Amino acid sequence: MEMPFGSISRRDFMKYCATTAAVLGLSELEFAAKVSEVLAAAPGKPPVIWLEGQDCAGCSISFAGSLYPSIASMLLQRVSLRYHEALMAASGHVAEAALHETIKKGGFVLCVEGSIPTADDRFCMVGGRPFRETLEEAAAKAAAIIAVGACATYGGIPAAGPTGAVGVNKIITDKPIINISTCPVHTEHLIGTILYYLTTGKVPPLDKQGRPKMYFGELIHDNCRRRSYFDNDTFLSDWNDPNQKNWCLYEKGCKGPDTYSDCPVRRWNDGLNFCIDCGAGCMGCAEPEFYAGMTPLYTAEGERSRNIMARKKAGLIPPLKEEEA
Ligand code: SF4
Ligand code: SF4
Ligand code: SF4
Repeated sequence: MEMPFGSISRRDFMKYCATTAAVLGLSELEFAAKVSEVLAAAPGKPPVIWLEGQDCAGCSISFAGSLYPSIASMLLQRVSLRYHEALMAASGHVAEAALHETIKKGGFVLCVEGSIPTADDRFCMVGGRPFRETLEEAAAKAAAIIAVGACATYGGIPAAGPTGAVGVNKIITDKPIINISTCPVHTEHLIGTILYYLTTGKVPPLDKQGRPKMYFGELIHDNCRRRSYFDNDTFLSDWNDPNQKNWCLYEKGCKGPDTYSDCPVRRWNDGLNFCIDCGAGCMGCAEPEFYAGMTPLYTAEGERSRNIMARKKAGLIPPLKEEEA
């Protein structure tokens, strides 16, 4: 079978197929074959536009830093990235012309990184015009729209400032927006979603926050290896005490009980580790309330943490049954 990402090994590609294939009710082999077939039949490389609003470019860096498949393979072999401020070779008027030409033709996948200011357009001007206008123009002709990262999905860190920052779905209300939250975006969430769309021509099933259920269907807390300590009220209070190193991080601000994402299972940096296993609590970066609604990040003194404990005491966060633990 011809593999869809030429230089990518079969093993690496199958890893990417796993979750998406399950959602479609296909085996990984069947899904890989379908991706091959769809991409081989496509008249050209699927065009992608990547816009950046109020962002730190961290999501671009997360995407570009992926080892499997490498960004070069992903972009150069199978997707035509027509516009990306940080990654494209062109700049200035040439870059803007490429953007407008692609928008005019329509039918592209639109990825948006960063939030949009609503207090005043001048908080985010790109190419001499309000970012909001470019977004609206591109969204009108896009085949699919993916909000990439916490800023583009729900406002993220910029929403804690004075710009009235919002996510894409507050500006574009007449089309479905796929929200791939977390700060930064998880590369596998993004590539898997693009593969799903290219293979089926459809938006994947979304939860009520607009996130693909295949990645955001379960609570961090329900898959956390520290869970038995939470259930037994054993909370880490001193990071310097080796005896406490595996205890629950609730008192250090962990918002895992209120956060939906597959981080404990998928992990980050190509499966190497993730926040909680590094000893830092979950900051809730996959949720619409991130950042302001999840602060303080490293203590349990905020309203969100108090609410978690109140629900625990009321029996609303029951201990995991033995077979679930
Ligand atoms: S979601 Fe996080 S990493 Fe991505 S642009 Fe916003 S602040 Fe940066
Ligand atoms: S509160 Fe955080 S560290 Fe503790 S069990 Fe839940 S997710 Fe894990
Ligand atoms: S564990 Fe929590 S803070 Fe860390 S990436 Fe996942 S959702 Fe974000």
